[in-house]
Amino acid sequence: TAVIVAIDGPSGTGKSSTSKAVAAQLGLSYLDTGAQYRAITWWMVHNGIDITDPAAIAAAADKPEIVSGTDPSAPTITVDGTDVAGPIRTQDVTSKVSAVSAVPEVRTRITELQRSIAAAAPHGIVVEGRDIGTTVLPHADLKIFLTASPEARAARRSGELKGADVNATREALLKRDAADSGRKVAPLAKADDAIEVDTSDLTLQQVIECVVTLVEE
Ligand code: C5P
Repeated sequence: TAVIVAIDGPSGTGKSSTSKAVAAQLGLSYLDTGAQYRAITWWMVHNGIDITDPAAIAAAADKPEIVSGTDPSAPTITVDGTDVAGPIRTQDVTSKVSAVSAVPEVRTRITELQRSIAAAAPHGIVVEGRDIGTTVLPHADLKIFLTASPEARAARRSGELKGADVNATREALLKRDAADSGRKVAPLAKADDAIEVDTSDLTLQQVIECVVTLVEE
C-alpha cells in the first residue's frame, strides 16, 4: 500500500534535502509544495498582478497551470509549460510568496492539486511544506515537523545562497516564517500527531536516517 509522509516546518530546517533523500531511499515520489506556491507567485508577478491586492490575486488564482514532476532525483516545476525552477528561487519571488500564499483562493487551488498528486503516486509520496500534516494530508501515515535554531537556519540558507549576508538572511527568513505562521488559512503549524525533530545539531545524514527509521517502524 502507498505510504504518505508529511514533512513540515519553517524555512532552512532541511525539509527539501531531507524529503528528497528519504523519498529516493524508499522509492517514493516527492512533492515540494513550496515550489508550487513560488510558481503561482512567479506567474502573478510575470503577469502584472498587483500582489498587494488579495482580490486581484484571488481572481487570477485559477489561471496558471502548474505541473510538478515528482521524481525525487530530478523534481521539476512548470507553469503553462514553461520551466520555472530557476526564476522561482529569486529574492523577488521569495519576498512575495507569503503574501500570495495567504490568499484563501490560492490555497484552495494548490491544496486540491497537492491532494490529487499524492493520490496518484504509485508507491506513496513524501510531501514537504507548511500545512501538509495539519491541512493537506491530515491522514498521512507519518508526520514530521522539522525545527532548528534561527542561527542554524540562517547559516544553512546563506550557505546555499553563496555568500549572502547571514544577518540579512536571518531577518528575511524570520519575517517570512512570521507571515506564514500568522496567516488566517492553514498557517505554518505542527500537527498534534507530528513528531518534532530539532535539526540544529544534526547532520543532514542523521536527519535522513531518523526519518527513514520512523517510516519503516
Ligand atoms: O518551502 P519554501 O521556502 O520554498 O516555501 C515558499 C513559501 O511558500 C513559504 O514561505 C510559504 O509562504 C508558502 N508555502 C505555504 N504552504 C506550503 C508550502 C509553502 O504557504 N505548504
